[in-house]
Amino acid sequence: MSEMISVEEFRERARDWLAANLEPRVEMKPRLRGVDNLSAEQLPAERALQRQIWEAGYAGISWPAEYGGQGLSGAHETAFAGEAAGYRMPDFGVLGGTTFLVCAPTMLAHASPEFLARHVPRILAGEELIAQFFSEPGAGSDLAGLTTRADRDGDDWMLNGSKVWSSGAAHADWGMCLARTNWDARKHRGLTWFAVPCDAPGLRMDPIMEINGDDEFCQEFLDDVRVPDADRIGDVDAGWSVTQTMLAYERGAGRPSEARPPAGPGALAPDLVALARRVDRAGDPEVRQLIAQAHIDDHARAQLGYRLTRLMQGDGMNAGIAAYGKLARGTFDPLRARMALEIGGAAALVWDEGDREAMEPSIHYLNSRVFAIAGGTNEVQRNGIGERVLGLPREPAFDLDRPFREVAREGSDWAGKPGRRES
Ligand SMILES: Cc1cc2nc3c(=O)[nH]c(=O)nc-3n(C[C@H](O)[C@H](O)[C@H](O)COP(=O)(O)OP(=O)(O)OC[C@H]3O[C@@H](n4cnc5c(N)ncnc54)[C@H](O)[C@@H]3O)c2cc1C
Repeated sequence: MSEMISVEEFRERARDWLAANLEPRVEMKPRLRGVDNLSAEQLPAERALQRQIWEAGYAGISWPAEYGGQGLSGAHETAFAGEAAGYRMPDFGVLGGTTFLVCAPTMLAHASPEFLARHVPRILAGEELIAQFFSEPGAGSDLAGLTTRADRDGDDWMLNGSKVWSSGAAHADWGMCLARTNWDARKHRGLTWFAVPCDAPGLRMDPIMEINGDDEFCQEFLDDVRVPDADRIGDVDAGWSVTQTMLAYERGAGRPSEARPPAGPGALAPDLVALARRVDRAGDPEVRQLIAQAHIDDHARAQLGYRLTRLMQGDGMNAGIAAYGKLARGTFDPLRARMALEIGGAAALVWDEGDREAMEPSIHYLNSRVFAIAGGTNEVQRNGIGERVLGLPREPAFDLDRPFREVAREGSDWAGKPGRRES
């Protein structure tokens, strides 16, 4: 077996390659969701950049070599991420996260070698971007209650139903789709994942306009969509364990990051101080109180983040640890966004066109519930932490120990009409 290159040597090699080949990153501000959206015109250049990085040996650094990765360690991955932070890297928007941080790692954990050999090199080359098709109009927090169905037809499956809230799907090449394959099993036991091409006959994808002006979500309608069994991810009816892996990645598990303790409390909420000065309220005692609270929250967040990163490095796929990080973000983001609006008052609600700084408080406010809902709401994180980390009794449920066919038959909506499609 050939010896693995040391992290330091890899870091130096990456540093030289980056300097010689990539553009320095000029705009260091994080992207504003709903404003800095990925456009269809931008996509070919991003795909080409992804391919360039992969061909140079810097994509899929810790992914298996037999599927196009580099077969190195998480430490190599972290070292590259640190070096690449100052360069313009491929920007696939939210779809970059769903593809490289969530769907592909989940596939690597559960899909067949044949599936991985076909898809993973194409993912690394920027040719396959993947959206997540799991939520449905009638199944979000209660994901195991979904009713999109997959019925076996020879070597294929026929998928019928509807998915919704799929982030970035408008630009995706594939959707990773969860469907019910067994109506006689209990609800968590009859589910299976599939990879569905976004241009499959029978699949319609309608964009959804959001409150922040973006249309990054789609709703999908599947009408006899034919998927070969070779594009199944994980075993038939074993989709719930695949789901657990996917949700742990979605909640932040397994990401390359260096656990560096925060140097101290950091600067006093710089964005809020700048805002207070701009609206001439820096001397207002209520505003000063809000800034002090934000500063305390920022410090607590940084400390918690450091602690979780350290714990994850010891136990990367621990869904319980990931749930704490997700819950913290889902809790603090809305508070912080509201503080900015309170400080800015009416001045934070209107801005001149192109004045990005003035626009930020409103856009942050509109986006502030993203982490409180996406990938499992705050309440769902609390339930998970209570039951799986703290060992509290399970939430009472009427539908866990019965065939899903019965649950579906008896389900009703608020008006008493049958609420779910039966098998
Ligand atoms: C920004 C964003 C991106 C998303 N991206 C995707 C994506 O790419 N793909 C995808 O498939 N989906 C995606 N989603 C959908 C997301 O996973 C669901 O919105 C989420 O799981 C919640 O489901 P729901 O919207 O149906 O709310 P519901 O499940 O109807 O919940 C409504 C309310 O009831 C509460 N609640 C429900 N059950 C319980 C319980 N047992 N205990 C206590 N409270 C409860 C919830 O916390 C919530 O407050 C995204 C959502 C957002 C906001």
